[in-house]
Amino acid sequence: MSAVMQNAAFREIGLDFSYELLEVKPEDLRRKALDELTDPRVRGANVTIPYKVAIMQYLDEIDLEASRIGAVNAVVNDGGILKGYNTDGVAALRAVVETYGSLRDARILVLGAGGAARAICYKLAGNASEIMILNRTIKHAVALSDYLSSLPECRADVTADSLRYESLSNSLREADILVNTTPVGMYPETESSPVESKLLRSGLLVFDTVYNPLMTKLLLDAKEAGAKILTGVRMLVYQGAATFELWTGRKAPEAVMMDAVMKILKRKAD
Ligand code: NAP
Repeated sequence: MSAVMQNAAFREIGLDFSYELLEVKPEDLRRKALDELTDPRVRGANVTIPYKVAIMQYLDEIDLEASRIGAVNAVVNDGGILKGYNTDGVAALRAVVETYGSLRDARILVLGAGGAARAICYKLAGNASEIMILNRTIKHAVALSDYLSSLPECRADVTADSLRYESLSNSLREADILVNTTPVGMYPETESSPVESKLLRSGLLVFDTVYNPLMTKLLLDAKEAGAKILTGVRMLVYQGAATFELWTGRKAPEAVMMDAVMKILKRKAD
């Protein structure tokens, strides 16, 4: 998805850049990170699962937000100096604020406590009033909640519990926004949802970070229940746009990037 999106953007702006996919074996990470990324012809890279944390030890500098999040998804090569950034959290925050408005008094329920949750919760915690993290493995949720609460930039009251019907039902009653950061509902398990449909209601904003399929079961159920919805594609495109701007110093052509991604997702849905 990222290659299609970024190459469409380079073409639109008329930049002679090309985004290529590189498969990296764990034992090659160090060599690839240092040799290939510092090549003067390489401007940067995206880093994906499972290397978002492992790459950090090979970088010369890490942006403050990426270091707080503890993961890097974008690298810039500045004359052989490698700097790491995280554009996932800022992209999610932007998408949520555009859809919901100010988060000042918002109570947000987040499902999942993995890498995506870490980036998203970090940014939400700096803006919202309350964040409840529910996760299959409770100790991961508690660790994330304790960590966020310890940061000086955290303004939200952050709490954690295990992901069970009862905790979900209670938390959803109080929440203004639901964010799914678990892979539940992702292709090919498209009939699954992390939330029973009867718990969804109008007045709620439901944001599913899963973007394949575009309309997950959770989002279809939310729509049916009269809730507002936000698809994961917006976050995907915004993180791509933020990364494009880091690499090129140019404003990203977001509409072109969105079109490129939507074309693929629509083709997959047919
Ligand atoms: P991750 O680090 O592996 O974390 C996955 C999280 O989901 C963990 O908290 C895990 O719980 C939980 N989980 C996994 N399977 C589950 C299940 N069957 N039932 C309940 N909980 C389950 O993965 P990640 O990097 O956070 O990515 C998660 C999802 O976010 C991806 O699948 C992707 O769709 C989405 N994402 C979207 C974007 C975007 O731009 N839209 C960007 C990044 C990620 P445990 O702690 O119990 O293992």
